[in-house]
Amino acid sequence: MTSGGQAQIGNVDLVKQLNSAAVYRLIDRQGPISRIQIAEHSQLAPASVTKITRQLIERGLIKEVDQQASTGGRRAISIITETRGFNTIGIRLGRSDATLTLFDLSGKPLAQEDYALPERTQETLEHALFNAIASFMEQYERKLRELIAISVILPGLVDPVNGIIRYMPHINVNCWPLVANLQARFNVTSFVGHDIRSLALAEHYFGATRDCADSILVRVHRGTGAGIIANGHIFLGSNGNVGELGHIQVDPLGERCSCGNFGCLETIAANSAIEKRVRHLLSQGYNSVLREECGIHQICQAANRGDALATEVIEHVGRYLGKAVAIAINLFNPQKVVIAGEITEAEKLLLPAIEGCINTQVLKAFRKNLPVVRSELDHHSGIGAFALAKRAMLNGILLQHLLEG
Ligand SMILES: [Zn+2]
Repeated sequence: MTSGGQAQIGNVDLVKQLNSAAVYRLIDRQGPISRIQIAEHSQLAPASVTKITRQLIERGLIKEVDQQASTGGRRAISIITETRGFNTIGIRLGRSDATLTLFDLSGKPLAQEDYALPERTQETLEHALFNAIASFMEQYERKLRELIAISVILPGLVDPVNGIIRYMPHINVNCWPLVANLQARFNVTSFVGHDIRSLALAEHYFGATRDCADSILVRVHRGTGAGIIANGHIFLGSNGNVGELGHIQVDPLGERCSCGNFGCLETIAANSAIEKRVRHLLSQGYNSVLREECGIHQICQAANRGDALATEVIEHVGRYLGKAVAIAINLFNPQKVVIAGEITEAEKLLLPAIEGCINTQVLKAFRKNLPVVRSELDHHSGIGAFALAKRAMLNGILLQHLLEG
């Protein structure tokens, strides 16, 4: 995740890392919690729990709080995480811009800035991005306590294990070693991830799918993509990329897709395709409150106010989206489906259209008690990037760096 050296980690060190992570995870997820409870839940020896919590306290990552009365009459000290002394920078790298957010370790955004990045080569983009990071750090120096991670999310094909960008939709990249370069320049543990997959993980940690281990998030924006959370982890496969829902063929005689095939979902369920369809219908003379110049936001608003054309357009997208989502449900049997993207502003029309497909195209046992909900974090730029740092705390990789550093 941070370097190839992780693979050679010694067994003793690995056990240490896993035990520290188990304790930290319990405190993070269930705190305030006592040492006795931690020992019970983790099945670690009480002496190990005492030792690990001492290290975590000394590092400032956890703290003791009020005493709670235990059943035996003895009072046990409870422990919670300490999040204010540590920061991460989460970066959402788009096609022509980047949003940088300074987080504390609870995921609270402390500052945010947008930077225009119109660069068209890997080298110039990296240069401009690193300059943006440097100036962001300088600008918010007073808010910065201890910077423990920089994470970047982006569209494209990402190898998160080796920290390499293999493909970006708008520029040619040549196995871009972004993580290694970030770490060399800023001397901070760094992570990269796919934007939608990372958003799915953020929903699992802090949002709509906190209550379930298996979920699917589908986001409609420039295209359509999905993130699959299986047993609490992003499902990536050995190639590091799973969830190209947008290239499921939903219309055999449909439009040509950017991928070269015909009738892919994202030729219908993408903001530009939706806007194009509205323009086309208006040019045919259909009646609507919408005018030629309208974006996805205006279309959703018109649909919410009952405009017949806008309503039909949203439901049309919902039916095709639903067809692909139904396939994904039959494959992965999730506990919840999350829909993200600007189009969810018309959720009252969109979600029932998707649910209609699920009800007729999904195995009965799989669709029982299956909520389809709107993303809780989509508007929260960079939260997916923060989720990558959070994951590294919970699985012990970043945590161990901090304890040893
Ligand atoms: Zn395609």
